[in-house]
Amino acid sequence: MKNNVIGRFAPSPSGRMHLGNVYSALLSWLSAKSQGGQWILRIEDLDPQRCKREYAVQLEDDLRWLGLDWDAGGIDHPDYVQSQRGDVYCECLARLTSAGYTYPCYCSRADILATQAPHESDGRVAYRGTCRPDGTPEKEAWLLHRAALCPHPPATRLRVPDREISFTDGHYGAQSVNLAQSCGDFILRRADGAWAYQLAVVVDDAMMGVTEVVRGRDLLLSVPQQLYLYELLGFRPPKFAHLPLLCNAEGQRLCKRDKSLHLGILRQQYSPQEIIGRLAFWAHLIDRPEPVSAQDLLPHFRWDAIPLDDIVLDAAL
Ligand SMILES: [Zn+2]
Repeated sequence: MKNNVIGRFAPSPSGRMHLGNVYSALLSWLSAKSQGGQWILRIEDLDPQRCKREYAVQLEDDLRWLGLDWDAGGIDHPDYVQSQRGDVYCECLARLTSAGYTYPCYCSRADILATQAPHESDGRVAYRGTCRPDGTPEKEAWLLHRAALCPHPPATRLRVPDREISFTDGHYGAQSVNLAQSCGDFILRRADGAWAYQLAVVVDDAMMGVTEVVRGRDLLLSVPQQLYLYELLGFRPPKFAHLPLLCNAEGQRLCKRDKSLHLGILRQQYSPQEIIGRLAFWAHLIDRPEPVSAQDLLPHFRWDAIPLDDIVLDAAL
């Protein structure tokens, strides 16, 4: 019987991969491949200021060097490159708009920050519906006035329901979020025309047939936004399983600023097997940080071995 598991790695080509990216790539690859599934590579280059083709080319070279081969996608396949998929996002947004789920928002970022306090738990700002039509002639007149004064095209927001959206994460278990309270009506397309991550990721995962999403737990609480979009667009959602984050000695999530941990440096000092062995040890898949290939790790991959707490790196490698 054909195995239909499809996992994915969806990096932004905005710099050299660092150890945290490699760790997410490795574990999503292991999860898909240990089930006999496929693993696709999607290039999330929606931000033209930060993303460059040369970074994507380098990223593919790094993945091959690590032994993480993909079955479909990559920078030379426009169907898997977000900057080439505007027509698809446009069509999905038009469906949501014609069904009455969206509205134009004229607020600047400064407007939003000036009127609202950051959400307590994660610093996100919940949009309070300033531009949401409420059916009254007064609001309609006020919105027309705002539209006339707005110096740029409006952003497009999605109306969210005031109810809990629940799901079970494959690693962190039962989760429940009320979108109205946690983020409010969220943006699908920005005023400058850029597509929002939440819309693009849902449309892409659905159309690329992705059945499982494995990524860092910093994205755990964006799942309910995505599930709501799956529901409205009539797509079948994938399974979600989130990973503890790799943190530096100060407890901060690794990022592109942690230069000593990017692959440009690491490739000069270590073999792919040494890097993968260390990551597998941190993920509790092996008992000692011994060199191992991604392929040889497949029999060792178990979700219940992976810790829930973030992984603090006290030394470089
Ligand atoms: Zn607004």
